[in-house]
Amino acid sequence: MNPKPMLELENLRMYFPAKTGLGLRKPTSFVKAVDRVTLTINAGETLGLVGESGCGKTTIGRTAIRLYDPTGGRIKFDGQDITRMTRKELKPLRKSMQMIFQDPYASLNPRMTVGDIIGEAIDIHGLYTGAERTEVIAGLLERVGLAGDHINRYAHEFSGGQRQRIGIARALAVEPKFIVCDEPVSALDVSIQAQIINILEELQEKLNLTYLFIAHDLSMVKHISTHIGVMYLGRLAEHGKADEVYENPKHPYTRALLSAAPVADPDAAQAQKRIILEGDIPSPIDPPPGCRFKGRCAYAMGKCAEGDPELTDLGGGHKVACSLYV
Ligand code: SF4
Repeated sequence: MNPKPMLELENLRMYFPAKTGLGLRKPTSFVKAVDRVTLTINAGETLGLVGESGCGKTTIGRTAIRLYDPTGGRIKFDGQDITRMTRKELKPLRKSMQMIFQDPYASLNPRMTVGDIIGEAIDIHGLYTGAERTEVIAGLLERVGLAGDHINRYAHEFSGGQRQRIGIARALAVEPKFIVCDEPVSALDVSIQAQIINILEELQEKLNLTYLFIAHDLSMVKHISTHIGVMYLGRLAEHGKADEVYENPKHPYTRALLSAAPVADPDAAQAQKRIILEGDIPSPIDPPPGCRFKGRCAYAMGKCAEGDPELTDLGGGHKVACSLYV
């Protein structure tokens, strides 16, 4: 059976007007947060999207579910073109697309009860009322490993990991098909991170969910991802099946990220040669001509300055945007 695309992005662009030093907006200059990104996530899959802060990964997530109006390109969700849909047209689809946020302390109102937080989305979409609503919320809490009777407690009474479980229950309340997990474990203790990832994996299997899982490093998405996308300065540098990208990374930037990832086996860790990236990520307002990574790349050559390389399929859907492979 052919895989069913859940999210298709085609040449997606998301530019924001750049602020001047005085806070005035200069409409002629733009932050190119996402620049011509094309990718597909099939139903039931998880795309782990990684890159340094400011590379555009969160903007892709927000634009994909139309929290932002894209500057250009096309977004198809579950077969429907949603690129230019109005807020009213999007409303019935909102249930299907949810988001789990990075900071469980900031994303939940501490003065609301857990029942009100989870029930809010249920009420907006008019899904359940009365005793049935209470029963559904208690069931959701149990599904994420909390007690059903936590429903009347306030968010501030919970730890970071428990709050993230509440955030997951809130996203599940409207029975979504697709969830953007925006660095959902980055703010948590290492000991709690694996628990949250395990819950997300179990839920995916039971509910056939599709995830876009955003993280800043490759080790965090290793176990949950079926596919990996590596972003650099608004562009996709490499994309492919997770095993293929981890075992056979092609783009010099992916190799550098992988060389920095922690390795459990002490012998392997000693053998691993760390690639130190010199210099900072350039400004997305005026990206350098040619390959955007060339100022930090040990393999840069003359033709890297000539044009911004497009993704090339090296076989089996393993794509890389680098002149070394053209
Ligand atoms: Fe390095 Fe050139 Fe490839 Fe860019 S195109 S990653 S500068 S080798």
